[in-house]
Amino acid sequence: MESIAERIDHVRATIAAHAAKAGRNPAEIELVAVSKTHPADRIREVLEAGQTVFGESRVQEAKAKIPNLPGRARWHFIGHLQKNKIRHALPLFERFHSVDSLALAEDMDRIAAELGVFPEVLLEVNVAGESSKFGFSPDALQRDLEALLRLGRLQITGLMTIPPFAPDAEASRKYFVALRELRDRLVTGSGLGLPELSMGMSGDYGVAIEEGATLVRVGTAIFGPR
Ligand SMILES: *Cc1c(COP(=O)(O)O)cnc(C)c1O
Repeated sequence: MESIAERIDHVRATIAAHAAKAGRNPAEIELVAVSKTHPADRIREVLEAGQTVFGESRVQEAKAKIPNLPGRARWHFIGHLQKNKIRHALPLFERFHSVDSLALAEDMDRIAAELGVFPEVLLEVNVAGESSKFGFSPDALQRDLEALLRLGRLQITGLMTIPPFAPDAEASRKYFVALRELRDRLVTGSGLGLPELSMGMSGDYGVAIEEGATLVRVGTAIFGPR
């Protein structure tokens, strides 16, 4: 079996190959190692292999693990954030990929002010309109954007999506294109910058990079199956 260090090398090489194919600089693409369900010892191995950015999707679990790991590890929240967990989550995570409603953003803004922090935020978009998924519909995001941008504590830097599950990476491409095009429309209409696109997981991060991903969230390809 491959070691964790070998798997990370493989993921980094795949990122570089797809960036090259798309004429992009691989340094523009940040790898987020999704460590949910994996214990602190496994995360430490990944950290020792030089990977410092990790993604977690449950506040309770992250709260238990993060204090046991070296301070150089940096944490991104990638799951659905419940309102009653905001106060616990804000001090733990430097970036939130998955802010999925105006109401959640408003609560985060208020609590961030109380705590004196300015979290980096991406807005999750349900591009395929799946009823099982969280996220703004593209229409709701167009409508709510002005209100979101008035929330002075949130540094809104981009969009995130999770396409419908499909065994074939190519099936995700049209959703990644849709997220990029939505971003381009929002930027044109408002003059704001939304440079970050968080898209791509173990099965489809190569395709996501070809379509403009700046953050890829990769779990299984690094840690093995959950
Ligand atoms: C679990 C998870 C991932 C990682 O999925 P893998 O297929 O294991 O790479 C990425 N993004 C989100 C939002 C997740 O919940």
